[in-house]
Amino acid sequence: MNKKTEKTSKASLSKAFKTIIWPRRKYVLTGLILIVISRFASLVLPGSSKILIDEVVPNGDLEMLKWLILAVVGAIVVQSVTSFALTQILSVEAQNLIAQLRSKVQAHILKLPIRYFDNTKTGELVSRIMTDVEGVRNLVGTGLAQMVGGILTAIVCLFLLITISPLMTLYVLVPVAIFGLISLKAFGKIRPIFRERGKINAEVTGRLTETLGGIRVIKGFNAELQEIRIFAEGVDRLFKNVKSSLISTSLITSSATLLLGLASAGIMGIGGYMIMQGDLTFGDFLAFTLYLGFMIAPIVQMSNIGSQLTEAFAGLDRTEEIMNTAVESDDTERTIQLKNIQGHIVFDKVSFAYESNKDVLKNISFEAIPGSVTALVGTSGSGKTTISGIAASFLTPDEGAIYIDGHDLRNVTLDSYRSRLGVVLQDEFLFEGTIRENVLFPRPNASEEELQNAVAAAYVHQFTDSFEHGLDTQIGERGVKLSGGQQQRIAIARAILADPKILILDEATSNLDTESESYIQASLKELMKGKTTFVIAHRLSTIRQADQILVIEAGEIVERGKHDELIQSEGRYHQLYTYQARI
Ligand code: ADP
Ligand code: MG
Repeated sequence: MNKKTEKTSKASLSKAFKTIIWPRRKYVLTGLILIVISRFASLVLPGSSKILIDEVVPNGDLEMLKWLILAVVGAIVVQSVTSFALTQILSVEAQNLIAQLRSKVQAHILKLPIRYFDNTKTGELVSRIMTDVEGVRNLVGTGLAQMVGGILTAIVCLFLLITISPLMTLYVLVPVAIFGLISLKAFGKIRPIFRERGKINAEVTGRLTETLGGIRVIKGFNAELQEIRIFAEGVDRLFKNVKSSLISTSLITSSATLLLGLASAGIMGIGGYMIMQGDLTFGDFLAFTLYLGFMIAPIVQMSNIGSQLTEAFAGLDRTEEIMNTAVESDDTERTIQLKNIQGHIVFDKVSFAYESNKDVLKNISFEAIPGSVTALVGTSGSGKTTISGIAASFLTPDEGAIYIDGHDLRNVTLDSYRSRLGVVLQDEFLFEGTIRENVLFPRPNASEEELQNAVAAAYVHQFTDSFEHGLDTQIGERGVKLSGGQQQRIAIARAILADPKILILDEATSNLDTESESYIQASLKELMKGKTTFVIAHRLSTIRQADQILVIEAGEIVERGKHDELIQSEGRYHQLYTYQARI
């Protein structure tokens, strides 16, 4: 184990105690009490056996025999009841912990900046929320209680063993100590393996999510075999990982069997000899072997519990990694709560880079007055989406500033800004569910009338009227059951219903048929009314009507003005326009 992992493991232990165990101390403590009761009850059997052999049988004491049997039955009943209660209390609380933790991690992930998502696979995040968190339950589940209970029992049994025969006890302790050392070493090896497993799981899930999401592209390029191979490789890595941890865990179990078997054989020898010498009674011998069994059982069980706890810490490590990633709103400078946004936006000498030394935007300055339309035009990769991302507060400028109604956007709370922002993107803008749900998504409590108005304004009725279930038609994941134009009209209806003050449109490049094109034009016009709009325009009709056109090239504004002016000046815009370049 290298230094770094050791450090994390220590940090997690105290953190795990503080954040996971301490808040649940009521349950954990109850669990411990129950397990102590159960373990003590289990000690009744060896004690009774000793009395049976050494006293009851030789004296023919039937009255005592009755009490002994009653004691044993009572102990067994206590054991069953406590173990039932233990599972009910601890396992249920462990599941409750997972539910809470999953929600917490999901909520945290949603608050991470867009750039985090750009760099992380969706499936990987899914795996963090669902799989990594799962392991943590072992910290609260019965495992920990059993471990503590096991240690307690072992100590009590050790004490009882010593009272019976210090010599035999000493003989037993040697293999037990060796076993302890072996398992400590083995667990040190397992933990990084578990952490690695979390990583592989995340990668495989990540790829799988992409594969299934992109099934059309995969089939279209006949690339199924490739994906099957990549997945098989991932699954194989998982298999090898599990295999390598199995080596350590089975090493622990077998060394336990071996060493403890040797101990038992020795005990038979020493004990037998001592009985012959008259130094030990039969009952003592029997009690010794039974207590020994009780001492050893939890130690052997440790291998199981140990790997559960190791898994828990590995899961916790990975969960904490996410929880320690700063969320967007952590910025303490965001103190201004915008009340009535007018939608006046100024870009002041904005520069931006995704990666250092590679400026994507350079010195971008412009003003968008409330209710105006700003069209961003330029070849692919020139920086249009980046500008709109900055306007949407998804990205923050490296240099320069954005002002909204005169306030530096960096000081404005994200909630107050984004609640007045609307975004209509080119793709992946619909969710699984009905058309109605998709339109209502930004304002689930909007009235039926508002919904109908929005749907009508976006000409969604034009196609839903002919659907058997109308607005309640299921559209499939990401709207796959609809045409591109239909999807876009739903997205526009949604934005109309949301009624933002600032609107960002990344228009579709897909070839829409002329009919839906004209509906989209009409609905866009309805949508843009009274809103400060940024439009990444692929349609000339939208650009023509814009209040200002910014021509972007390699991250700079190279031309600006209205359509007619720019055509007249015969510059870059004129060139793009006349050559019908893909803009
Ligand atoms: P446009 O929308 O005009 O096609 P973009 O704003 O998307 O252009 O991209 C501008 C430049 O920034 C391109 O060179 C692109 O490769 C780069 N870029 C875009 N998004 C990212 C990202 N998430 N990480 C790194 N580079 C990016
Ligand atoms: Mg773009």
